[in-house]
Amino acid sequence: MVLTDSHCHLDVSEFDTDRDAVIARARQAGVTRQVVPAIAAAGWAQLKQVCVPGSGLFAAYGLHPMFLSEHRPEHLDQLRTWIERERPVAIGECGLDFFVEGLDHVLQQQYFEDQLALAREFDLPVIVHARRATEAVIVAIRRFGPLRGVVHSYAGSEEQARQLWEHGFLLGLGGPVTYERAQRLRRLVASMPLEQLLLETDAPDQPDAGHRGQRNEPARLPVVCETIAQLRGVAPEVIAQATSNNATRLFRLPG
Ligand SMILES: [Zn+2]
Repeated sequence: MVLTDSHCHLDVSEFDTDRDAVIARARQAGVTRQVVPAIAAAGWAQLKQVCVPGSGLFAAYGLHPMFLSEHRPEHLDQLRTWIERERPVAIGECGLDFFVEGLDHVLQQQYFEDQLALAREFDLPVIVHARRATEAVIVAIRRFGPLRGVVHSYAGSEEQARQLWEHGFLLGLGGPVTYERAQRLRRLVASMPLEQLLLETDAPDQPDAGHRGQRNEPARLPVVCETIAQLRGVAPEVIAQATSNNATRLFRLPG
């Protein structure tokens, strides 16, 4: 079974002491590729260093809405330079977070829209963070499209999922789907088009129900895959293959 983790933060300091072992465990678990989205401009150099060519790790560069206080307008110019020079697989993590208090909505919207415009200009997919903001994300995508991308750790409605699909967006699903109380999410996962699905861990965050409170890591992706397979009544291999193909297509990953 070959899996692709479409969203994990292997570059962050939580992995500084054992990053190689974490990657080795992922490979052993069949997770052969990871997409690693950025958080803030100050971390791009470290991210590049972690995503060595040939490692199966693929960097995306961008400005994460939760780290709004670290972003400066000039970082958008720097992002353009990084995109031109590094040719990343995507722009992100970008998006809107209306859940965390104290994050200015207007300013978030500006950074998000500027990154959508860059994605359009460079024909790159976007990796979108949408917390309590799925509707606003859809409005922005409509305005700046045509675009393609993924709304990671999807938590919106079935109707919003349909709208995102129509606008070229896939949904990333991870640890939250393993919680039995996540009824709405589990219903959605059971019935959504398989072509719209990506698997993710969001490591070091969002561990599965069996590892509550622990640091998450990409080697746990099979648990997400098996849960979704069970919910859809198919073999895990079917989900693994389809979601890996979806990731290859969206991010234009090598084989
Ligand atoms: Zn993330």
